[in-house]
Formats: sequence, structure tokens, C-alpha cells
Amino acid sequence: MSKIKPKQIQSAKGMHDILPEDQKYWRYVQKKAETLLEYYGFERFSTPILESVELFTRSVGETSDIVAKEIYTLKTKGGDILALRPEGTAPTVRAYLENGMNVRPHPVKLYYIDPMFRHDEPQHGRFRQFYQLGVETIGDGSEAVDAELIFLAYKLLESLGLDGYSVQINSIGDQNCRPAYIKALRDYFKNRSKKLCATCKVRLKENVLRILDCKEEGCKELAKEAPQMMDFLDEQCRLHFKHVLEFLDEAKVPYILNPYLVRGLDYYTRTVFELVPDENATAQSTLVAGGRYDRLIEQLGGVKMPAAGWAMGIERIIMVMKEKNVHVPDASPKPKVFLVQLGEAPKRKALPLFESFRKAGVEAKSSLGRDSIKSQLRIAHRLGVRFALIFGQREALEGTIILREMDTGVQETILLDKIVDEVKKRLKERHE
Ligand code: ATP
Ligand code: MG
Repeated sequence: MSKIKPKQIQSAKGMHDILPEDQKYWRYVQKKAETLLEYYGFERFSTPILESVELFTRSVGETSDIVAKEIYTLKTKGGDILALRPEGTAPTVRAYLENGMNVRPHPVKLYYIDPMFRHDEPQHGRFRQFYQLGVETIGDGSEAVDAELIFLAYKLLESLGLDGYSVQINSIGDQNCRPAYIKALRDYFKNRSKKLCATCKVRLKENVLRILDCKEEGCKELAKEAPQMMDFLDEQCRLHFKHVLEFLDEAKVPYILNPYLVRGLDYYTRTVFELVPDENATAQSTLVAGGRYDRLIEQLGGVKMPAAGWAMGIERIIMVMKEKNVHVPDASPKPKVFLVQLGEAPKRKALPLFESFRKAGVEAKSSLGRDSIKSQLRIAHRLGVRFALIFGQREALEGTIILREMDTGVQETILLDKIVDEVKKRLKERHE
């Protein structure tokens, strides 16, 4: 009788596992972000993975790539259509309004580290589920907020050992001055529309600004000569932008003015920025992107309220940290003790003994599945512990245990209820 081996099931396209050996990177990034952001007064919070689709069509924009092409939707058993959130800013604003955060002292400063979902073509640094660290400041329209946010993104990269990044920055104006620019831009591209890619021909009608963000060579070439927003900014927007740059100069954050930087989301006003490598920048090498969104809260049913923020892709950060060989300390402390247990009775007594080491704050390890002394000592060696505790049938009966110093091989029999103190004493003598 032949048995058919069941087919192995693979992860869904664009989804990835985070393996134990990578956890130290995740914890490290998270810790650095928490320390920095909480010092600057940001509070962590979380929103659900599922939201109504309308939240994103109304904010990010119906014609944006994120909503038009990349959004995951599902129908619930009750018939509602929900979206797996593709980004965190619209959910943040929804939560701000829904939970009455508008009565808190402003600005309200929030951050989150959560998974996002986009049905994008997977490639190096581009996944369908990925984590974003997002930072949002709601309720302050001043230049200092834009500058503080950019400064924090820059400092966070620095503290993660990632140098060689600059801020690319632009202002896309506001509802007063942008319309004239949009018109100039449309006229410019209309006269050259034959050279635009198919997507940009549609963008010409729907959202001409986004042509500037196109990654096709032909469109990029055309964009180089296009009119610039800078020449259309009204006095208030121009001053706002000027002051942001002055703040950055003062804080010694290197930036590059990029007159064609626009963001793929509809809700931005005034300042937009990205943190991009100084060399070999590609579409996937942007680590952080963000900007000001002074209209979004109103659009989502709140009062007029300025806000700004950014998001950082954690997988991309970790990829670059690995490429640059950034040293990341091991997540768990090195064990000091390895418990070698030989036989049934010692195995049964091993767990309470283990627990007393944990309570005493001494890192201990063991390998309950192994029976031979040789293989267990080999593991102890590999872990680099200072002590092996050898616990056999006889010791279990007598209420003792053998304490072995691994580097000298010197062994001593100790009473079982004294062993934790003895180990602590010896560790203390050598300040371990
Ligand atoms: P891109 O131009 O790379 O598609 P985006 O403009 O869609 O980026 P944002 O929505 O502004 O990106 O997201 C901010 C950051 O989140 C990006 O700079 C990147 O680090 C990360 N990010 C975005 N999309 C993905 C993805 N599909 N996989 C992994 N990280 C991503
Ligand atoms: Mg994208």
C-alpha cells in the first residue's frame, strides 16, 4: 500500500515569518524607538488590523496606489466589507476622534508599531505584510512640529547605527496655493502626454501630482523639467517651509531639497519628506516617509485640526542593519548555569530547582530531552556557562548536587538546598 505524502503548505505570497534568531533585531529596534519617542513625550497605542474600507478611500484617496491597487478587503459573515489596514495614519485619526482624545492636552503625541497590509508585488524590501513604526503629532500646526518629527526620524536611524541617510524634503502647499500649481502641472504634462506611461495618462486626469512619483524612466525624464511647487507657494506656506528648514539647520539634520517629492497618499499638505540613502537610492531603499496632514481630521469628521507624522518600515530597517553589520546585543542574558540531569528522579526534581534559580535571578539552562552526561556537558560547553550542576540518581536520593566549574573541571558536592546560594556567592566573588 503506498502512502501519498501530504503536500507541504507554504506561507501566502509576500508574507514572511520572523524567526527566533531575528527577534533580537526586532526587540532592539523597538527598544530604541520606545526610549527615544517616550523621552520626547509620545505615547504608544494600537488600533485594530481591520477597519472599514471607507476610512481609507476618504483619507488616503480613491485613486492612490494604496487604495486603488493594494488594499486587502474581506467580507464578514454579517456582510460588511472591511479592509486590512494598509497604513496607520487614518486609523490613528479615527481613534483620536472616536475616543474623544480631542479633549486631551494638545498636541496629542502618539506612536504605534503594528503590521500593515498591501497587495503589492513582493520584492527585496517589499512585502504584503510588513511592520511600520508610525509617529503622529495631532493639534499643532507650527513649524517646530515638522522639524521635531524629522529630527526624531533622523536620530532614530542614527541610534540604530544607520548613517549615510539624508532627509529629502519638499512643500506641496495647501488648498489655497496648490490648485494653481496643479493646473500648471496638468498643462505641462498634457502637452507631453504621448510620452507618459499608461498609468500616468490616467493620473493626468485623476491626480496629476502623482506623476511626479512615477518610477518609469520616461515619466521621470519628463518630470525633471516640470514646474515646481516652490514657485507657487503662497506667503504662509513659503514661510512655514522656510522655518522648518531653519529648524533643521539649527539641529544639524542634513537635508536635500527635492522639488518633485510628493507622497502617494492624498492627505498631505505643506511639508513632505523621506529618509533616503545618500548613495544608490532605489524605490525600495526609503526607510521613512511622512509629512503634514492639516486637512485629514476635518475630512474624517472632526474639527479643523493640524497634524503631522511619519512611518518607518521595520523590515527595511532590519535589512539595512544586517547589510551594514550593525552589532545588536543578544536579547537574552547569557546563561551561567547548566543543569545536567541523569535519570527519572533527578528529572522530576529538576523543574523546582530550575525555578529557584529563576527566582534568584540566575540564568540557568537545561536539556530535559537528553540523558547522557557527555551530550549534556557538550551543550553546557557550547553555551559557555560557568557552572554545570550534575544531578544523578544518587544525588537526588541524598539531597545533594555536584557543582562543576566548567573551565577548571573542579567538582564539589553541595547540599541541594544550599546550591542556589553557593552559585550566587561564587558569581559575586567574580562580579559576574
Ligand atoms: P514605496 O514608495 O516604497 O512603495 P510608500 O510611499 O508606499 O513606499 P509609505 O506608505 O509612506 O511608503 O510607508 C512608509 C514606509 O513604510 C516606507 O518608507 C517603507 O519603509 C515602508 N513600506 C511601505 N511599503 C512597504 C512594503 N510593501 N514592504 C515593506 N515596507 C514597506
Ligand atoms: Mg508603496
